[in-house]
Amino acid sequence: MNTFDRREMLQLLGAGSAAGLLGMLVPGSVRADVPPYTSGMPPIKIRSVKAIATAPEGANLVLVKVETTEPGLYGIGCATFTQRAEVVVTAINEYLPDFCVGKDVDNIEDLWQSCFVSSYWRNGPVLNNALSGLDQALWDIKGKRAGMPVYQLLGGKSRFAVDAYAHADGKTPEEVATNVQKYMDDGFRYIRIQQGGYGSLYLAQQPDFKAAGFGRDTDDFMDPVAYVQAVPKLFREVRKRCGEEIDLLHDTHERVQPQDMINMCKRIEEFNPYWIEDPLTPENMDWFPQLRANTSVPFAMGELFNNPNEFIPYMVQRSFDYIRCHVSQVGGITPAMKIARLGEFFNVKSGWHGPGDVSPVGHAAHCHIDLAIWNFGVQESVFFGDKTKEVFPGTPEIKKGYLYINEAPGLGVDVNEALAAKYPITNHAGRWTIRRRDGTIIRP
Ligand code: MG
Repeated sequence: MNTFDRREMLQLLGAGSAAGLLGMLVPGSVRADVPPYTSGMPPIKIRSVKAIATAPEGANLVLVKVETTEPGLYGIGCATFTQRAEVVVTAINEYLPDFCVGKDVDNIEDLWQSCFVSSYWRNGPVLNNALSGLDQALWDIKGKRAGMPVYQLLGGKSRFAVDAYAHADGKTPEEVATNVQKYMDDGFRYIRIQQGGYGSLYLAQQPDFKAAGFGRDTDDFMDPVAYVQAVPKLFREVRKRCGEEIDLLHDTHERVQPQDMINMCKRIEEFNPYWIEDPLTPENMDWFPQLRANTSVPFAMGELFNNPNEFIPYMVQRSFDYIRCHVSQVGGITPAMKIARLGEFFNVKSGWHGPGDVSPVGHAAHCHIDLAIWNFGVQESVFFGDKTKEVFPGTPEIKKGYLYINEAPGLGVDVNEALAAKYPITNHAGRWTIRRRDGTIIRP
């Protein structure tokens, strides 16, 4: 409040009453009857930061552990980039300690903003994964410090639990429909359907590149034409056998050309999909106006986005309907909440990326956001096995198609480091190569 404003207010209210009012309103003033919050919560500094890498069920998982100057107070965050896990471990162990140690654990936004630009070049995977893990660990600490689950710090619950989707696969449409029915019987209301995994690889015939000795024997083979023809038939069969009530999702995994995607989506419209996921590669995003203008199916997009700013133009243009991003990739809870809040203004809902190669800590982070935001859509879920649950006490649980977190302060998931060390990560850099019949690489 500047001097002029004070004088005006004094004139308006009279000196006696205004002085009391100003005592409450002027920033930095201290009321005698209200102790500053720091009297009960002395500043706590970051004492150490390190990576924890583990693969209890084969998928590489990377965590950040932040220890503080208060004995026993630490936070855990998910930094998983499963395909290049070892470089994320290096980014955490080699760069975060020097950046973080000695700083105040309370100032999450300041730590986020300063870490984001401290490498000067930014917005890439690896460093963003490390930042995501740091951010989630700081929220975990803040929750433990406050004695509250993180969702309370984000505004409290907007719903009692998190509606989740399950994954139904199968070699034939009939087999997929049978698996959809099983999940419906278990209480799921949302189910993602894939025939033969992403791109229906088993439908592809004549891998001529292999006969020609082009590429590796282990390279996958996809026929985009067979895939595009199969998806509408899959939807037709599942709708016929499972009815209109169930919400059906499908992931195209950015694997076909934009015009083929438009034509495929037009044929799916009559089956009322809940969403079609990642219809375009990052290189083809300028096709969204044509895609949107030519089909009414809802889209989920953004799994390959690195930078929170990437969402802005597509939300403004209402190009897609669901935010599909990897919270352990875009920088953690802090930017994910900003993206979610931005989406509220454009009627874009959440649909965070939540496969088995996000750790239970990352899944818990999704759930805390999902509980708090108004514009929640649906949450991808996985059934973690016993090994993972042993390594990560407090892993979220699924009941009747809902994800539940525990009510412990923080994110509610711990990591048993001794057990985690028994499942070392591995290097899968040679995988995920998909080719057309003549050997051309298919993205991604
Ligand atoms: Mg996907």
